[in-house]
Amino acid sequence: MSIELNIDREIREAYSSDASGVIMLPDAVARPDSPEEVVELLKQATLEQTGITPAGAQTSTTASSITDGGILLSLRRLARIVDFDKAQMMMRVEAGALLGDVKRLVAAEGMLFPPDPTSENESTVGGAIACNASGARSLRYGATRPHIRALKVALASGEIIELRRSNLEKNTVGYAFAHDPVDWFIGSEGTLGVILEAELGLIPDPGQALGIAFPFASEEMALGFVVEARESQSVSARCLEYFDGLAFEIARSADERPGWAPDAQAMVYVEEEGLEDADTFEKWMELAERFKADSDVRVFEGDSQLRQARRLRHAVPATMNERGAMYRRTGGRKVSTDWAVPYRRLGEALTVARQIAAGSGVGQAVIYGHAGNGHPHQNYVARDASELAVIERVIEKTLKAILAMGGTVAAEHGIGKLKRKWVGLQMSAIQIGAMRAIKHELDPYNVLARGNML
Ligand SMILES: Cc1cc2nc3c(=O)[nH]c(=O)nc-3n(C[C@H](O)[C@H](O)[C@H](O)COP(=O)(O)OP(=O)(O)OC[C@H]3O[C@@H](n4cnc5c(N)ncnc54)[C@H](O)[C@@H]3O)c2cc1C
Repeated sequence: MSIELNIDREIREAYSSDASGVIMLPDAVARPDSPEEVVELLKQATLEQTGITPAGAQTSTTASSITDGGILLSLRRLARIVDFDKAQMMMRVEAGALLGDVKRLVAAEGMLFPPDPTSENESTVGGAIACNASGARSLRYGATRPHIRALKVALASGEIIELRRSNLEKNTVGYAFAHDPVDWFIGSEGTLGVILEAELGLIPDPGQALGIAFPFASEEMALGFVVEARESQSVSARCLEYFDGLAFEIARSADERPGWAPDAQAMVYVEEEGLEDADTFEKWMELAERFKADSDVRVFEGDSQLRQARRLRHAVPATMNERGAMYRRTGGRKVSTDWAVPYRRLGEALTVARQIAAGSGVGQAVIYGHAGNGHPHQNYVARDASELAVIERVIEKTLKAILAMGGTVAAEHGIGKLKRKWVGLQMSAIQIGAMRAIKHELDPYNVLARGNML
C-alpha cells in the first residue's frame, strides 16, 4: 500500500496555520483513511528520516500542529466510534473525532466525558489527549489525563502498541514514571507517537447545574471571592472563572442583554452542580455580598442558558484571536500565556504581571480564565514584529516571577514551538535529559513533531 501525499500548494496552505497566528508551510499533506495508512507513512518517514507532524483540528495556540517542511499528517478522517460500553462507562474512539461530538453522544446516554476545553466543538479527541487539554470544569474533574483508560498508538517505527492503565493499588517495580506509559503520550504534543484510538472513561451525568456571573467593583474583591469560594464548606463550585475589566468588556458585548453592570471592573463566573440543595443560589449570594458584588448578577439555568454562558466565555479567546489575526501581515499576532500559581497567590501574580507590562510600554493584556486553579490567560496583541519581541520579553520576565511564586510557565495549552524557549526556566537539566531519553527510545531519528517541546 502506498498513501498519497498531497503537494498542491493550496492544500499545503490550508494546513499551514493554527490558532497560534504562526504560519509554517509543510512540504506535503497526508490525510489517511485508515490506521494502516498511518503505519505505512510512519515507516516511510522513519526510513527516509523525513519529519512528520500529527495534527487534529489545528486549534493549537502554540504552533504545535504545524510544520515548516516535512509531512503534515491530518488525523481528521480517523473519526470512528469503535465501541461504546455503557455498563463499563467507556467509549473507545478514533483520534480524529471531534471532542464536542463525543461529548454529545455520551450525554445522550446520561454520561459525561469531563474534559471541557473552550474549543471542544472545534478540536479533536487526539488533540485533547496530546495536549492534556483542560477547561473551566477541570477545577472539579481535572484535565484530560485522569479520564484516559487506554491508548492505541503508532510509534515512529510504524509499530502499533496498545497501552492500558494499570489498576494496581501497590507497585514497586521500576521507576514510578515508567509505571503507566499511557501517561507518556498524554501531553506529548505529537512527539512520541501518533494516537490512533483512545478508551475514554465516562462518569454519570451530574445532572442540572446552576451558573452565576457576579460582577465586582475591583479585581481584589473578585479574587478574594474566588479564594473564599474555593475553600468554602457551604458552596461547591465546579468552575471559578475570572474576567478582568477588559475581558468583561468583551463578554458584555457578546451578551444579548445590553448595559450589564457598566461600572464593574471584574467578573467571576461560577457553576455548581447537583441542585438538590434548594438554598444553593442563596448561599452563593451570601458569599458574593461579603465581597460587595454588584447587584446585576446573571443567572444561567438549564442546558440552553449554560451554553449561552459558555458562549460568553468563548467570546473572549475568540475575539482576541480575531484581533491578533488582523496584524498577521505586519508580523504581529495574539500572544497568550497560560502560566499558573497556587490559587491564593493569583492576585499578587496579576499585580506583578501588570507592573512588568506597564514598565515596558506595551498595552495591558486582556486577562481571564481559571482563577480557581490560579490559572489565568493573559492575551496580548502584538501589532508588528518589534512589538512581538517586546511582549515576549515581558512574558519571559513574568514567567520568572511566576516560578518564584511556586508556579508553572504553562498549565494548559502545552509548549509547542512557541514556548519551547521557556521549558528550561522550569525544568532542570536532569528532567529535560529524561524526556530526551524517552524521545530517543521511541523516535530515534526525531521524525515526529519536530520542534515541539524539546
Ligand atoms: C478559541 C480557543 C479556545 C481554546 N481553549 C482551550 C481551553 O480551554 N483549554 C485547552 O486546554 N486548550 C484550549 N485551546 C487550545 C486547543 O484547542 C487545545 O489544545 C486542543 O485540545 C487541540 O486540539 P486539536 O484537535 O485542535 O489539536 P491540534 O491543534 O491539531 O494539535 C495539537 C497538538 O496535538 C498533537 N496531535 C493532534 N492529534 C494527535 C494525534 N492523533 N496523535 C498525536 N498527536 C496529536 C499535534 O501534533 C499538536 O502537537 C483553545 C484554542 C482556541 C483556538
